[in-house]
Amino acid sequence: MGCDGGSIPRRDELVKQKQKQAKVDQSILNRVHWFSCALSKKALASPVVACGLGKLYNRDAILEFLLDRTAYGDGDKICQHIKSLKDVVTLQLEPNPSFSETQSNSLTDHDKEPVARYVCPITMKEMNGKYRFVYLDTCGCVMSEQAMKEIPSKTCIKCTKPFESFNVIVLNPKEDELEAMELALLEKQARILAEKKEKKKSKASKKESDGVESSKSSNKRKLDSSEESSAKHKKQHLAASNYPSPPPTQTVSSTHSLTAAVAAKVAEQMAVNASRKTSSAIQSLYNTGKVHKENFMNR
Ligand SMILES: [Zn+2]
Repeated sequence: MGCDGGSIPRRDELVKQKQKQAKVDQSILNRVHWFSCALSKKALASPVVACGLGKLYNRDAILEFLLDRTAYGDGDKICQHIKSLKDVVTLQLEPNPSFSETQSNSLTDHDKEPVARYVCPITMKEMNGKYRFVYLDTCGCVMSEQAMKEIPSKTCIKCTKPFESFNVIVLNPKEDELEAMELALLEKQARILAEKKEKKKSKASKKESDGVESSKSSNKRKLDSSEESSAKHKKQHLAASNYPSPPPTQTVSSTHSLTAAVAAKVAEQMAVNASRKTSSAIQSLYNTGKVHKENFMNR
């Protein structure tokens, strides 16, 4: 340049060119990221899954890859973090009403802006890379980040399933977000592992406590039955006290009076008998005396 008759491009021209280049690059990247499977590079088609790093894949491609990790040349590099189907979430995507299968050809037409197959169910914005989209790894629902921010909720706006902030995964994050997402993914894996361990532990302890519980419950049953019987006794006692027998003192006194009466009667009779006996004895004495006297007199 210079001295060759040409012109030196000014700085603003260079910047414009760079911007244009960047725009084209972004457009190509969008097509790659938002319209095609990150693994097979084929056009995205339901069922679509996403990984913890926010990449989009056709489920079939992931299945193929899991069966044979060499099925796609750079598969192990792209899906290094995918070890099983549990590492991906099947997305619940809202179909774009203005999309038709014939338009899918426009992916290869670089002069034409491709029509997105999916949209945000709330804002109806197309999922074409111009807007940020997120998915929830709890239910797989996909929506624009804008909808998520505008309707703050602890449950999914689409299906009402509850979620935590760490369940929100940005789809096709920016380069500078990737590191944080990788960290979040590691944290998630650790959390799942810890939850699994906790579940196993609680299951084991539950089994153990179930054993104790059953013996406890049998003891309890025994206790219950004894309590029941004692309760029965109490009830009977109560029932008895509901119909109280006459106070013992009364019985005693009545018996006493009765016995006293009988005793008096008996004593009276005995006295009569005694007096009679005495009299008869006296009489006999008298009689004998009489007899003696008579005998004496007769002598
Ligand atoms: Zn949902």
